[in-house]
Amino acid sequence: MPIQRPGQRAEQLVEEMSITSAADLDVEAIAFDQGIEIRYERLNGCEATLVGYGAKAIATIRRSTSRGRERFSIAHETGHWLLHKGKSFRCRVDDIVQNYSSEAALEKEADQFASHLLMPTAIVRPIIKSLAKPSLRDLQRVADDFDVSLQAMSIRLAALDTLPVIVACYSKIGLKWQSRAAHVPSKWRLKRALDDDSFAYDILNGQADGNKGGKQSADTWFENDDADDFELLESSMPSVSGQVLVMLYLNDLEMFERGYSRYAKKD
Ligand SMILES: [Zn+2]
Repeated sequence: MPIQRPGQRAEQLVEEMSITSAADLDVEAIAFDQGIEIRYERLNGCEATLVGYGAKAIATIRRSTSRGRERFSIAHETGHWLLHKGKSFRCRVDDIVQNYSSEAALEKEADQFASHLLMPTAIVRPIIKSLAKPSLRDLQRVADDFDVSLQAMSIRLAALDTLPVIVACYSKIGLKWQSRAAHVPSKWRLKRALDDDSFAYDILNGQADGNKGGKQSADTWFENDDADDFELLESSMPSVSGQVLVMLYLNDLEMFERGYSRYAKKD
């Protein structure tokens, strides 16, 4: 059998089960079908564990107020079970910052598996394509339809690489993580700390409630000297524990054309 990437493996499973809509993505049924029994418990220090014995496994999932988070954990453990048989796991799950463990590569694979299992390309791409320049509020509706967190959906959106977006998460300390559509030129470097002209800054500092968005000068977001030649769309929303989720939509084509021609302007 040819080596499959984790995402392909997950999407093949969805196809084999003839699932064609978000409403039919019953992750517990999929896990059960693969021999996994799901238990819910109050876990300390981790989000989920997986213990296998023979052809069966038990996945223990931490109870969460967010069903999207529980579902992601189940999908993540299903990924471990199918991709990394013979090992046991204690997982943080879906915590992008936690990338330092020795098992980081396996965790990343399980996350990719989960992301594709819960948001298969064939089902999610047409929905994303039907949205014109979506804001995070639009994306929240899609996330609700798929019963996943907004964070998981926004990372999937960037990975799909159909829209010119960068998604990022900031705390008061600064940039926690970013995820970019592959075709967005890497020359555009995000600022490490929030600019006080950004909507995200207002949200994080209590000067705006809920989500906020609109046009921004690109130099609010990028440290490049020539960023002030461009505008982009910023959409920001409060996220978990004092963080703000940001989606930047680069709708000025010249940012792509100039992207590769010069690294930074000298004044
Ligand atoms: Zn894991």
